[in-house]
Amino acid sequence: MNECIFCDMKREAIYENDRCYAIYDAYPVNPGHALIIPKRHIETYFEATAEEVLSFHKALHAVKRMVDSRYAPDGYNIGINVHEAAGQSVFHLHIHLIPRYDKDVEDPRGGVRGVIPDKRGY
Ligand SMILES: [Zn+2]
Repeated sequence: MNECIFCDMKREAIYENDRCYAIYDAYPVNPGHALIIPKRHIETYFEATAEEVLSFHKALHAVKRMVDSRYAPDGYNIGINVHEAAGQSVFHLHIHLIPRYDKDVEDPRGGVRGVIPDKRGY
């Protein structure tokens, strides 16, 4: 029995290639928040093969083009949570492509450094 949500969601894909697919996040932090997900069940980025990493690269570019034309964001963050300590809650690798909009936070400086909120500013 397979209970992995990301092994089972391909029908909702907005993009697909031979090694990965993409969906819009069910709980977007911003409009257009998308996830790139390998078809093979691996837990983290560090188990991905070179071929899979290349497929993620192609997917990120293709999905970015889709998000650009649909939402016209002003920037992006790309992020991966590796293990529970880093916030991972679904243990099938997924790469967040998060569109950013001018003024969506008061002070965006530091970007992904904000995973440790007190250390974001520098
Ligand atoms: Zn899975």
